Amino acid sequence: MKCDRCGTVVEPEEAMAHGSQNLCEDCLMDAMSPAQGCDPWAVKLATGAATSAGGEGELKGLEKAIFERVKKDVRVSREAVPALFGVRPPEAKRALAVLRHMELLRSDRREDGGADLVLFGTGRS
Ligand SMILES: [Zn+2]
Repeated sequence: MKCDRCGTVVEPEEAMAHGSQNLCEDCLMDAMSPAQGCDPWAVKLATGAATSAGGEGELKGLEKAIFERVKKDVRVSREAVPALFGVRPPEAKRALAVLRHMELLRSDRREDGGADLVLFGTGRS
């Protein structure tokens, strides 16, 4: 028999029922993943892509834009990110969490109580 989703030939005893479909193991995991479609970062983590590839080459969209900006400007005010990139604060926060998790950027406290984004490897001032 064949997997209903990807068409891979699977042994009947290895096929998994998911609703009305018979799926191979990979597609079943895909179908069951709660992160599917709403959180690409979690999906990347789940598939191991982030750990195997890693680094700035993996960045896309907002994360990449922020990282490139900090590389160019050295310091970027964290509070200014939503306005700079035209995103809502939660999106900015999430992108920054990813960048911090990947050890690409970190926050550096300013004397005025705010924080600047700096490259992860740069020393504390
Ligand atoms: Zn499949």
